[in-house]
Amino acid sequence: MTYSIERVATLMGAHRFGGCETEVRFILTDSRSLCFPEETLFFALRSARNDGHRYIPELYARGVRNFVVERVPEETAERYPEANFLQVLSTRKALQRLAERHRDEFTIPVVGITGSNGKTMVKEWLYQLLSPGMVVTRSPRSYNSQIGVPLSVWLLNRHSEIGVFEAGISQKGEMRTLRDIIQPTIAVLTNLGTAHQENFASQEEKCREKLRLFKDADVMVYNADDETVTAVMGEQHFKGETLAWSRKDPSAAFFIEQTEKGETRTRVSYIYKGEAGSYELPFIDEASTVNSFVCAAICLHLGLEADVLAQRMARLEPVAMRLEVKEGQKGCTLINDSYNSDINSLDIALDFMNRRPDHQGRLRTLILSDIQQSGIPAARLYTEVSALAQKRGVEKIIGIGTAITAARKHIDVKEAHFFRSVDDFIRSEAFHDLHDEVILLKGARSFGFDRLAELLVRKVHETTLEVNLTALVDNLNHYRSLMKPRTKLVCMIKADGYGAGAVEIAKTLQDHRVDYLAVAVADEGATLRRNGITSNIIVMNPEMTAFKTLFDHDLEPEVYSFRLLEALIRAAEREGITGFPVHIKLDTGMHRLGFHPEDDIDRLIARLHNQNALIPRSVFSHFVGADDDAFDAFSDLQFSRFDRASRLIQSAFEHRILRHIDNSAGIEHFPQRQLDMCRLGLGLYGIDPRTGKTLHNVCTLRTTILQLRRVKAGETVGYSRRERLERDSLIAAIPIGYADGLNRHLGNRRCHCLVNGLPAPYVGNICMDVAMIDVTDIACREGDRVEIFGDALPVTTLSAALDTIPYEVLTGISNRVNRVYFQD
Ligand SMILES: *Cc1c(COP(=O)(O)O)cnc(C)c1O
Repeated sequence: MTYSIERVATLMGAHRFGGCETEVRFILTDSRSLCFPEETLFFALRSARNDGHRYIPELYARGVRNFVVERVPEETAERYPEANFLQVLSTRKALQRLAERHRDEFTIPVVGITGSNGKTMVKEWLYQLLSPGMVVTRSPRSYNSQIGVPLSVWLLNRHSEIGVFEAGISQKGEMRTLRDIIQPTIAVLTNLGTAHQENFASQEEKCREKLRLFKDADVMVYNADDETVTAVMGEQHFKGETLAWSRKDPSAAFFIEQTEKGETRTRVSYIYKGEAGSYELPFIDEASTVNSFVCAAICLHLGLEADVLAQRMARLEPVAMRLEVKEGQKGCTLINDSYNSDINSLDIALDFMNRRPDHQGRLRTLILSDIQQSGIPAARLYTEVSALAQKRGVEKIIGIGTAITAARKHIDVKEAHFFRSVDDFIRSEAFHDLHDEVILLKGARSFGFDRLAELLVRKVHETTLEVNLTALVDNLNHYRSLMKPRTKLVCMIKADGYGAGAVEIAKTLQDHRVDYLAVAVADEGATLRRNGITSNIIVMNPEMTAFKTLFDHDLEPEVYSFRLLEALIRAAEREGITGFPVHIKLDTGMHRLGFHPEDDIDRLIARLHNQNALIPRSVFSHFVGADDDAFDAFSDLQFSRFDRASRLIQSAFEHRILRHIDNSAGIEHFPQRQLDMCRLGLGLYGIDPRTGKTLHNVCTLRTTILQLRRVKAGETVGYSRRERLERDSLIAAIPIGYADGLNRHLGNRRCHCLVNGLPAPYVGNICMDVAMIDVTDIACREGDRVEIFGDALPVTTLSAALDTIPYEVLTGISNRVNRVYFQD
């Protein structure tokens, strides 16, 4: 739907500057995601760290003409003659207000879903269950925040027959805003959970906040067996109809009589408003089962026949919420988004691909299935897909399915191939020709795209380190929130990104505009450059033999001694280089590397003055024990040494020299010492160095059970017969050993891994490539997944058992372990 700029201004109550009559169709809040400038309305949002107003000149140059701002730029008539500026008090509130007014245009049913877990699953399943008969407009991925919800609701259009939106909150007061935007006619609370509990005084308080979504809804869906929820419901005076589900209370609107779990399916028998019914679900886990109750109740309420519901329930597909990056066959990189194929999530995935820097000259290829149930006529739909793909830099499209094949003439990119099915494609030359491309795989499972993905990824070791890039960004933002807005940030990605893989980590950090990346050696920096990283890079340990690499790739070395300084100056002079930035390290107490903060300073300043090859960009030092209060007095001493010496250096130069000393622990513990810049390491990867607690977990090391065997009491397991079994046991072999970085000292029950969520101790000595674990008390099968550390088992459990620090465990995961990157 489009709005005239005049109408947008009126809806938001904005003051308009500029008189160009334009139409607005797209909303943009992140300048990097720009696609169709002419029809875009940019909201200059402000956060603690960033200010959208900064991007106005760039966006104007790229063709954007409509801006919502808090401050109108100066000299608009001269600098932005064709632009409209809509001035508001708060751009964020204006965005919410516009979405709210847009929502007012619709009288269709709208489902609003909140709860700690399951929001996305319920939303996606409702889509799967309803969309064969209705056009469902829903939040893309999990856009459920104060910004995500308005962007989702904006997607409602005249084809929409029902809206399904998620509402996620982390603090008091947030739900009211989301409720006003979504205005759900059907409001759902999936469950209460414990997430974000720190921001609420009690579970009741959190429940009350979530239930604000129910105010003014016609129908309210929740779990009547949850005592907190029913208690809070009892104190509220909602007007809507109660559509609670219960396994205990036969008077509940959706009463679950029985659930029977089979090998792969669950059978649910229910009574909905007095009518008995049943369905089978192709899942057996509890979360899926409970979420199916919610979906069933809503579908029945919306008038879906019980037998149709049962047919569709039986065909429900798992909700893949991750957008994964994997190494593919023949030099390809595979971005796999098996999330439902619709145009909104396609847009997000294309944006992700486009924003990742990459090798020059690698083809960007989109493999796309038919897009189903969009409600848009095929000609228009695929013309839109084609335009999107083009704008996002796609050079080759492989369309799979009868609808996209029929619409081939609307797809206009350099190279396009069409196939009726995945099988046809696999047999084709186009399939065998794929090489050295970045491939975005975007298609519904029903087209066999999971099989295709399997064929395209490089086959490696079954043990993988899964790296959650969303969590990484959450950690980054957590630390940024502890810093003053203007303090700069270095992200430490030495040791291959603390084991997570420096290249992908760097791509994500660059996209989030960190000021500096720091690697250990020049070669690591060169690898980043080859992979398209343009951020500033510091090299912490520049080897004397690699200066040329530094100069060639703009890698800024740390300088810690006169010997290194002299050699660098000589090398730079030889190359005719001037003003190459370096970072001066002072040794304030670590006694590892660095200039002496008293004895060396005069000579250092004199030498730097006496040349023009290098220029000091920053001066820094490193705390010995910022993670431990016991060292606070020593940290004070270190800081005072640093403060004095670094001021001396600064005073000897006219240009600004950045001073920095805080690491992850310091950012938190010594906020007054953040100075010009901080260096974030371990915290970025989700471990609070002071408490050892997990922030947002980034790395999960997983493997699978290779083989199960029964072993009698008295037998031994593994090399050297180190462990004799005390009882008849079930022993599982898993394909991970000390050569993968699973420390041998974890064996003989010193530690455990998790099998289906339960602890399984390592039995006997860990071998080079395989370990054995005791699963006697765990229901499991060959092929089941095993978590070595990660989401459910903190890496600190392993480091504690080894009497070491988490850094060592993380950086010890060997290269042969495949890294898989994903976004939630
Ligand atoms: C590794 C490193 C950091 C980061 O330390 P964390 O404890 O991981 O935050 C900071 N500064 C220097 C000089 C480092 O070598």
